[in-house]
Amino acid sequence: MKRYKLSRYNLYFSINSNYIAVFNSITQVLSLFIKKWFFFNSAGKIIGLDLSNCKIESLLLEKGFITDEKIDEEELIKVIYEDRYFLLNQEAGLTIILTFQCNFDCCYCYQRESPISSTSKFMNDEVIIKVVKFANSLIQENLPFHLNFFGGEPLLKYGIFPGFIEKVKSFCDKKHSSLFIHVTTNGYNFTERIVNSLLTLCKTMFVSQFR
Ligand code: SF4
Repeated sequence: MKRYKLSRYNLYFSINSNYIAVFNSITQVLSLFIKKWFFFNSAGKIIGLDLSNCKIESLLLEKGFITDEKIDEEELIKVIYEDRYFLLNQEAGLTIILTFQCNFDCCYCYQRESPISSTSKFMNDEVIIKVVKFANSLIQENLPFHLNFFGGEPLLKYGIFPGFIEKVKSFCDKKHSSLFIHVTTNGYNFTERIVNSLLTLCKTMFVSQFR
């Protein structure tokens, strides 16, 4: 007969005298448990789960709340993260700062502390050509490529976007690579035209502040 243990990656939150919410940080599943199912030590710490009359053992296993006693979860999590790291690293990307300038002056902004932020200009055509060439060298056959526009406020120079993206897209097409565009913006310069064009170009758009 298989023996099980509680996952060491469970987090327990006492709801009231009858219920405990349990969140498993590997599977990211949250569920409500009856308190009397658990065994506690003298310090009140959960040390086990009474599975004797439990009819949902397979569900608890599937959701990661319990695991086979022989499984070393630390090793398991290393394998999961090594796999994710490997997969993530298959996808190349480039973060582009068109300028450090911004039309906002947020108190928490770390960019304005940058020594070059006050004198920052916009990326010029010569640099853009070099960046596009560099992007091409990073694109790999049949693998997704990510372009992240960051700042400063990238939409201060929205005019650069379409041409820039078009060129990188043509390189991606040649290598059968899907292009994903991400923009982090404060959204102040949004117009209907810009939003519509971004919605067709971008995979994700982070609006850091909107006034
Ligand atoms: S909008 Fe972003 S870049 Fe601009 S000042 Fe605020 S935090 Fe900094």
